[in-house]
Amino acid sequence: MTDEISKPYITYRRGDSVFGKIIRKEIPANIIFEDDQCLAFHDICPQAPTHFLVIPKKPIPQIAVAEEDDESLLGHLIIVAKKCASALGLKKGYRMVMNEGTDGGQTIFHIHLHVLGGRQMKWPPG
Ligand code: 5GP
Repeated sequence: MTDEISKPYITYRRGDSVFGKIIRKEIPANIIFEDDQCLAFHDICPQAPTHFLVIPKKPIPQIAVAEEDDESLLGHLIIVAKKCASALGLKKGYRMVMNEGTDGGQTIFHIHLHVLGGRQMKWPPG
């Protein structure tokens, strides 16, 4: 495991990540929406004209360790994401992505739903 890959696992073990710091307002983020269950904020390194993330406040590291009890919370992320997309004017569509694990391209081990829009998306993804 390279240093690049092992870093997220270290934060995983501590049960915290940069997103935990954003939830606790220890570091700033451009917040779009917040409720008791989740937070939506713009990605710091946007891959499309609009690129935001929706994260649960519960620090679930990745989909692979989500539990049955997380079902409604994970569904809530999608509903919040579509409301934010609509509020941000993504009328022609958008892409929702949740990267899982290192092969899936996940770098922050706190579940997050990406929403990308404002340009034509390509398929297959890289
Ligand atoms: P992943 O690669 O884990 O699916 O996505 C992590 C995302 O988090 C990336 O798109 C990255 O740009 C974003 N990100 C990483 N650190 C920060 C941060 O401190 N603030 C914000 N707003 N986004 C971040």
